[in-house]
Parts: sequence; structure tokens; C-alpha cells
Amino acid sequence: MPSSLYHTDPYCAEVATVVESIFDEDDRWYLALKDNLFYPQGGGQKGDIGTVETALGPVAVIDTVKDQYASSPRSLLVLAGPCPGLEPGAAVTAKLDWPFRYRQMRLHSTVHLHHCLIEQVGGVRLPHPKTSDIGDGEAYNRYEGVALDEGLVARATEALRAAIAAGGAVTTRDDDSNAGFRWWDCLGFSIPCGGTHLRDIAEIGAVEASFSQKKGKPKITFRLSDSPAA
Ligand SMILES: [Zn+2]
Repeated sequence: MPSSLYHTDPYCAEVATVVESIFDEDDRWYLALKDNLFYPQGGGQKGDIGTVETALGPVAVIDTVKDQYASSPRSLLVLAGPCPGLEPGAAVTAKLDWPFRYRQMRLHSTVHLHHCLIEQVGGVRLPHPKTSDIGDGEAYNRYEGVALDEGLVARATEALRAAIAAGGAVTTRDDDSNAGFRWWDCLGFSIPCGGTHLRDIAEIGAVEASFSQKKGKPKITFRLSDSPAA
């Protein structure tokens, strides 16, 4: 399966590439490029935003989604508007909104690590939480069918802060037996995730965590301390 730049080189923020296709559907304009630099929304991580520099001028990318019909991974960049004159084969430079992407990368390692630390600190096994992005720099883990003690969550948050302060390498890899699936590994923990990730959890920096419960479903919301105001 061809690999995507957002997996092979998640710190790559810009690439010179070529337009593969451009089309509109339901009043939205989509652009596919030869190189998948932009991460398509999924797995609780937001789709990338940024700019595509073309010979006709810059085009704003307001979201990225998966091409559901492609046989191999293909990102569809959602454009802010039509781009008359831009044709397949045109040379362009794709540029991520790097601060946005980097916050997504920091958040995703945060949510995975906190989940693993609840299990470790509490000596419990939990179902995988539903992980979702809320905004730019905010995400949550929500658990179903399990009770979570607020004190345990707080101890896991302390352990999270200590782990971030100490640092630890993050690696990601393809699942050998399951094409298209990937794993996140850090500090001996493993989480199935196809998102984009940091090299080291030290890069997460300061993070706030808050606990809430709705209809018996515990939810932990994380916010990077340097996130833009919501
Ligand atoms: Zn992830």
C-alpha cells in the first residue's frame, strides 16, 4: 500500500507536488494531490488545513477528508472556493498550517498516554475510549460501559505530567497483519491509531485535563495550555 507523507514524515510541512484531480460536489471544491501531505480527518484527529500555492495564486484549504472511493489512501483537500483554471498535472506547493497540525500531534499523544496511564496507575483494563477532537488544541477520551473514579483520573493526570517532563520516544508503525491499520508505541504502551504523531512526548508541554460525567459515561477533556482561545 503506498504510504502517505503524514505517516512517513509527520514533521514535513511543505511539499512540491502535482494536482491529480480537482472537482466539486454539493457546493464543495475538492483537490487531490500526488503526495498526501494533508492528514484526512479521522480517528479523532482533525483534517489538516493550510494553503496550496498555484501558478494562479494561493488557494486556502479549510479541511481534509478521506477519499472514500480510492483504492489506496488519498487525501481530498477541501478548498475555500472554486479554482478556475487549475487542472490535473499542474505543479503546486502544498503547505500545512503547521501550528494547527503540531497541536493535533501533541494532543493525540496526550489522549493515548493518559488512557494507558489510567490502566497502569489503577491496575485496571479499560475499553478503548472514544477519542475526539473538540477544537484546535482540545480533545477528549470518553468511556462507555465502565465507571471511572475521579481520584484515579487525577493520579493518571499527575503521571501524565511526570511522563511529559521526563520525555519518551514515540514510534508509529503499520500493522503487519492488517493492511491500512497502524500502531502508536510509547513507554512500552501500544495503541491502535492511524493519526499523526510526535517524535517525543516531551513536545506535548503543558496540558490541562478535566473530568466530567454524563449519563454514566466518564469523559476526560484535554487542553494544551498554549491553545488558541476557543
Ligand atoms: Zn493517535
